[in-house]
Amino acid sequence: MSTPPDPARLSPDAVTALAQAHTSPAPCPTCRPYASPGWESFPASQDGAALQPLGALWLPGDDEPTLEEHRPTGVDAWSAEAPISLAYHPYNRCEVWACKACGFPFLRYTEYGGYYIDMRIRELRARLIVKT
Ligand SMILES: [Zn+2]
Repeated sequence: MSTPPDPARLSPDAVTALAQAHTSPAPCPTCRPYASPGWESFPASQDGAALQPLGALWLPGDDEPTLEEHRPTGVDAWSAEAPISLAYHPYNRCEVWACKACGFPFLRYTEYGGYYIDMRIRELRARLIVKT
């Protein structure tokens, strides 16, 4: 895997605009291996070469973003219907990537657990973005 260039800073509004600009209902064959309506571990079978970075909500050197989550009652954070709240964990530390073929946008972040590191990916869907 090659090292991606330093990502540009994206504001929540910019991420929202990116999501709204891409209205395709489904990923194309190129990015389908990454397609996941809810958070998933980054597919181990893929090297990520089909995706390109657009920017990030958090950059190294920024203050640590809050670990607080916006989790409405009854909605699992891993659910395909979990809201995307860009001010809250984990969205506040996400990178935005897009399919090189069709531009389908994805959110990615790395979860640092006590004993593991998990790269995660989720489709960026405008209809799920909530302002909180
Ligand atoms: Zn695609």
